[in-house]
Amino acid sequence: MSSSTQVKSQETSPNSNKLYHQIVVVGGGAGGITVTAQLLNQNKNLDIAIIEPSDKHYYQPAWTLVGAGNYQIEDTEKNEKDCIPSAATWIKAAVEQFDPENNLVITKTGQQVGYEYLIVCPGIQLDWHLIKGLKEAIGKDGVTSNYGKEYAPYTWETIKNFQGGNAIFTYPATPIKCAGAPQKIMYLADDAFRKQKVRNQSNIIYCTAGATIFAVPQYGKSLEKIIDRKNIQVKYQHNLKEIKAESKEAIFAVTTEAGVKEVSIKYDLIHVTPPMSAPDFIKNSPLAVKDNSGGWVDVDKYTLQHNVFKNVFSLGDASSLPTSKTAAAIRKEAPTLVENLLSLMESKELNGKYNGYACCPLVTGYGKTIMAEFDYEKNLTPSFPLDPTKERYSMWLVKRYVLPWLYWNRMLKGKAFEGDMLKFLHSKS
Ligand SMILES: Cc1cc2nc3c(=O)[nH]c(=O)nc-3n(C[C@H](O)[C@H](O)[C@H](O)COP(=O)(O)OP(=O)(O)OC[C@H]3O[C@@H](n4cnc5c(N)ncnc54)[C@H](O)[C@@H]3O)c2cc1C
Repeated sequence: MSSSTQVKSQETSPNSNKLYHQIVVVGGGAGGITVTAQLLNQNKNLDIAIIEPSDKHYYQPAWTLVGAGNYQIEDTEKNEKDCIPSAATWIKAAVEQFDPENNLVITKTGQQVGYEYLIVCPGIQLDWHLIKGLKEAIGKDGVTSNYGKEYAPYTWETIKNFQGGNAIFTYPATPIKCAGAPQKIMYLADDAFRKQKVRNQSNIIYCTAGATIFAVPQYGKSLEKIIDRKNIQVKYQHNLKEIKAESKEAIFAVTTEAGVKEVSIKYDLIHVTPPMSAPDFIKNSPLAVKDNSGGWVDVDKYTLQHNVFKNVFSLGDASSLPTSKTAAAIRKEAPTLVENLLSLMESKELNGKYNGYACCPLVTGYGKTIMAEFDYEKNLTPSFPLDPTKERYSMWLVKRYVLPWLYWNRMLKGKAFEGDMLKFLHSKS
């Protein structure tokens, strides 16, 4: 037996070296816990194991507010054992390989786990190493990132102590989780600098590898107005390549009509959003999309079923679903996956269809949020009967107080919560 720890008794297959479960879930984050809880709510007799190496589960959406001094990092963390549904088995291990031809996953310690159905959701990989000098520079001298739990509190240190100069906020050339987060912290920094009376001697610069401010044009228009109001400089097609900590320079590859050139910008504070991709063990596996540098799990964008291995499903950040990688998207992906997996188990047609719903609460200042909700077609899909393109205090309250509560108490328990959000709004109107 390997050193993998199980918190609940394991069933073994006829092959005694191998664990076996009817459904194996890889990753006990937002996707893994939500989908497991929903499956067990439908049928408590399902035999489900979650393979998850971490003792802790994080509510990552609040790391933006941690970076703004408005939330404590400790309040974003709970013990994983308290998140895993009691009827599921926890295999405390990290998966390293997939053998979908033989319905097996293999952990880092060599433990084989067999399955009838597999759900893959180990999140996204932060590729810090792709920016030269970043790993050495981050966490000190004004270099920070809310994308690392260990650095989010340092973001607030740098904002709080900022004395003026260049404050740069970057966005990389890859898909990332929560595409709004790189600019949310910038708007909060702008507010904080004004309050600290250093905004007049500060330049806030948003350097994005992209060509637009936000993928959904209606929300983009609102953000452009906010950027003008806040007097923020935006530099498009600027892809951060290197941090020179000694001279406090950020080096960008800038795409122009004449080709790519290198540009250096001095920083006093830099919030870096690193490039991201699927975890390497997914990229290098038969489950990954072929010829796709992101290496995402290759699933049908509507059914969430693997395009080659029909007993495999995926949701969340590691999946190839062409939507905004958010916990909010998982809220709508999970019921589709559950419906389709249960249909497959009964040899029925897969009728569940995910429409690409995602939500990004675009915090535009302390007390202000645009609740950006949309689908694959970039249609606006507001949960509230209000113009979703407007900044609102009520949506700030939803982001700051309501969503964290709903995450821990409803979503991770496999329960729907649209009704709770509307009740909250009515209580405020
Ligand atoms: C700064 C920031 C701000 C954000 N803001 C928002 C927001 O406002 N709204 C929103 O909806 N979303 C937001 N998000 C995104 C949201 O947190 C993610 O989209 C969501 O957590 C993805 O869920 P997941 O299950 O795919 O991955 P995760 O929740 O990251 O979970 C992945 C799990 O897999 C485990 N794992 C990793 N490797 C292995 C392995 N080898 N074997 C087994 N398990 C493994 C990990 O330990 C982890 O528990 C934000 C994220 C960040 C960082």
